[in-house]
Amino acid sequence: MKLAVFDDYRLGVVEDGHVRDVSDALDRHWCCTPYVMNWLIERWDDSREAVERAAVAAEPRPLSDVRLRPPLPRPRQLLAAPLNYHQHIVEMTDSPHLPRGVPPELTSRELGFFLKATGSICGPVDAVELPRWPGRIFHHESELGVVIGRTARGVDRSDARRHVFGYTCLIDVTMRMNTEHQEERPMRKSFETFTPIGPWITTADEVPEPNRLDIRLWVNDGLRQDGSTAQMIVGVDELVERASSVVALHPGDLYATGSPAGVGPIVPGDKVRIWIERVGEFTIAVRERDW
Ligand code: MN
Repeated sequence: MKLAVFDDYRLGVVEDGHVRDVSDALDRHWCCTPYVMNWLIERWDDSREAVERAAVAAEPRPLSDVRLRPPLPRPRQLLAAPLNYHQHIVEMTDSPHLPRGVPPELTSRELGFFLKATGSICGPVDAVELPRWPGRIFHHESELGVVIGRTARGVDRSDARRHVFGYTCLIDVTMRMNTEHQEERPMRKSFETFTPIGPWITTADEVPEPNRLDIRLWVNDGLRQDGSTAQMIVGVDELVERASSVVALHPGDLYATGSPAGVGPIVPGDKVRIWIERVGEFTIAVRERDW
């Protein structure tokens, strides 16, 4: 199932370019607020049938008639894997963008995860807004987003998939460091709108092998990234295992699993398209922040 949040945080089921409003299947207290998807994920086992029934009864509306919101507007925690694809590490090692003193052999396996501010989330029809920081460059990173479905504390990788609710396309927009500026990674990646996600959450039953998905990103129709999640150094199951050995993951948490090679600059006026096999695709505009 493909679950979207649209208009005034209504819940929708998406099929064939149309959305069916299933908000009435939810508790009125939670619908319709930015927390609607958190509520649903937490109660998915008890709510799925009601959502399916409501979808059958609802009138399909073309997606072009609604405003898609981020499918998970308020993830509880937003974790991210650094340097999780070898070829991306190679390209970064040849650039001035790695932190000083970090040996290039360090990967996501050694570095673990970092956190992005959840306030950096935006939706597929919003825009990435670049702040006016003179001399700085901003990169796109195309990533598979993993949505946690059940509380995971100290789970083994063999049991990790049971704790995954679904998947979404995620762009980890990043202000690069340079020889003069060495801000912490979480800050450089947490500007508002620096985590576009969407266009919906594809539930895990439709993605039987998340560790083998083609993932691509274009800037203005030019293909920049063309990889596969099979190239991840630490796969989805091990990411969940390792993170949940540090802190409990909860329903509605989101994990950005790292970027394949091909990252590069984006500037105001660009259009960035991300596509992940089985999961979805969207195109988002880039503009200069007006504040
Ligand atoms: Mn990233």
